[in-house]
This record gives sequence, C-alpha cells and structure tokens, in this order.
Amino acid sequence: YQAKRAGRSIGRYEPARDEASTDRLALLAEFREALSADDQLVLHLQPAIDLESGEPTGTEALVRWQHPRRGLLGPGEFVGVVEKSDLVGPFTRYVLNLALGVMARWGADGLDVPVAVNMSARSLLDRKLPADVAELLGRHQVPPERLVLEITETVMMTELEVVDDVLAGLRSLGVRLSVDDFGTGYSSLTFLARFAVDEVKVDQEFVGRMGDAPEAEAIVRSTVELGRALGLRVVAEGVETAEQKAALRAMGCEAGQGYHFSPPMPADKTAEVLWSMRGAAEDRGARVIPLS
Ligand code: C2E
Ligand code: MG
Ligand code: MG
Ligand code: MG
Repeated sequence: YQAKRAGRSIGRYEPARDEASTDRLALLAEFREALSADDQLVLHLQPAIDLESGEPTGTEALVRWQHPRRGLLGPGEFVGVVEKSDLVGPFTRYVLNLALGVMARWGADGLDVPVAVNMSARSLLDRKLPADVAELLGRHQVPPERLVLEITETVMMTELEVVDDVLAGLRSLGVRLSVDDFGTGYSSLTFLARFAVDEVKVDQEFVGRMGDAPEAEAIVRSTVELGRALGLRVVAEGVETAEQKAALRAMGCEAGQGYHFSPPMPADKTAEVLWSMRGAAEDRGARVIPLS
C-alpha cells in the first residue's frame, strides 16, 4: 500500500493533464502548418478614433486563425500557447509581414493610417528583432513611423538589459512604441520611467467599469493626466458606449478604440470604414468653418 501510494504520488498519472498537453502539442503542430500556409492566419483591423475630431488616428491588427476544421479562431484560443513555444519568433514575423502588406496596399491607395501590431513579450528578448523589422519595412516600402508596436508591461523584468537594447534598436528605426493594457501589469510607472514610448493604451477593463466603479474612473483619469505630463498619446480601449466616449473626451483623452466606433474587420472592409470616417470628419469640419 505504501509503495503504491508513493508510486502514485511520483508517477502522477493525471489524465486531464495528459490530455491538455496532447491538445497543446496538436495545436502547435497545426499552427506550424498554418505558418507555412499563406491563407490560415489573417488580420482583422480595428480603427482608433480621435475623440475630438472623429478622424481615425490609427488601427490595430488583431490576428485570427482560419483553422481548416475548427473555423475562425480568436487569439485567445492559440496565442498563449504559441507564445510559450519556439514558434513565437516565426509567429511575430508572420504577423508583422501581414500587417506591412496591408499598410503597403493601403498606402498605394493613398490611405496613410498607421497600423499597430501586438508584440509577444518574449519577442522583445530576441536581439534579431530590430534587424528583421528593418528588413520587412524595406521589403514592403512602408515608412517606419507608420508602424506601431504594442508592448505589454509583462516583459521579462529579469532580462531588462536585453529588452532595453531591443526597444532602443526598434526606436532607432523610427517605428513607434505603445504600451498595451496599461494598468494591468506589475509596475506601470516603473515601466514608463524606464522605456521611451510614444503611446499608452488604457486597458478596456478600466474603461468598461468607469461608469459604476469610482476607482476605475480614477485610474483612467490619472492615466490620461500622466500621459499628458509625459507627452504621450493616450488611447482608451474597449469604448462601447456614447457615455464612455463623452466621459473620456471630457477627461482630455485623445483617442478611443472599441465597438462604439467599429469592431475589428478584414482589411478591405476596414479601409472602407476608414475612408468614410475621414469623409465624415471632414464634412463636420466643413460645416464648422462658416459658423466661426
Ligand atoms: P488587445 O491588444 O488588448 O486587443 C484588444 C482586444 O479587445 C481585441 O480582442 C479586440 O477585438 C477587443 N475589443 C475591441 N473593441 C472592444 C470593445 O469595445 N469591448 C471589448 N470588451 N473588447 C473589445 P482580440 O482580437 O480577441 O485579441 C485579444 C488579445 O490577443 C489582444 O488584446 C492581444 O493581446 C492579443 N493579440 C491579438 N492579436 C495578436 C497578435 O497578432 N500577436 C500577439 N502576440 N498577440 C495578439
Ligand atoms: Mg493590443
Ligand atoms: Mg490592448
Ligand atoms: Mg486589452
């Protein structure tokens, strides 16, 4: 009995865990296929809007996986697993290549709106990243300032010197850096003091609770003020209602992104929406001029 107990505790036969790791390995094998196909990973793009003028100020590229059997999968179903594997580097480059392809097509049509790409924390530990980004910018002939890289505060704080070098390398190319999900990481203020960035995105969790949680409202408000003090652009994520938009605007928040303005959509549809948002903002501007 003793031996059996010991055996059990050492052997740890746990069907649930085995299944989970089999699923994980199967997912990674299929994802490897997706990376060598050219039609499985797609980007949907979501506009960010200037809260004052209504003009689109940028877009965010959000990856989806058109899985051959399981249909269209959101990032929540695979990005976490991919990020913990050796496919993270190839995945990051694949997405950058797709985003720059979209920017090149839009640019050829005269649409110069920036595109933001989400970077896995681990890819900021890859010293080759700046050179690879430079190569991709050159291949697609996209001006570097049109590319925004979204980074999160969960970057490995144990290898800060590497992250410093990689971010400095990226900045020296002229690409812009944005801190994603601001307020949800470990030490937001330390992060901003250490890394030179251009933009902060207030996490949707705080924006969503602004109306009924005074502490969420206080966090959004102080992030907007902090951004202004540091000369950073502040974008509120997850704006779903006209009330949230009005409150953010009253706080002096520059831009918003969320279902209230537009969901993420395929690139061609996004281009149409961006053109019509621009047109509408210009029309509003034209009506304002004779009045003043
Ligand atoms: P994120 O970067 O914070 O992206 C915002 C998420 O909020 C997106 O979810 C977007 O679809 C969703 N969203 C947009 N508007 C609203 C709104 O009004 N209300 C609410 N509640 N949500 C809204 P999505 O597309 O499922 O992406 C989830 C996360 O996956 C992203 O969060 C990002 O961290 C990650 N992700 C997406 N694409 C990539 C990628 O290409 N590479 C990497 N490494 N991560 C990615
Ligand atoms: Mg993001
Ligand atoms: Mg975000
Ligand atoms: Mg978020």
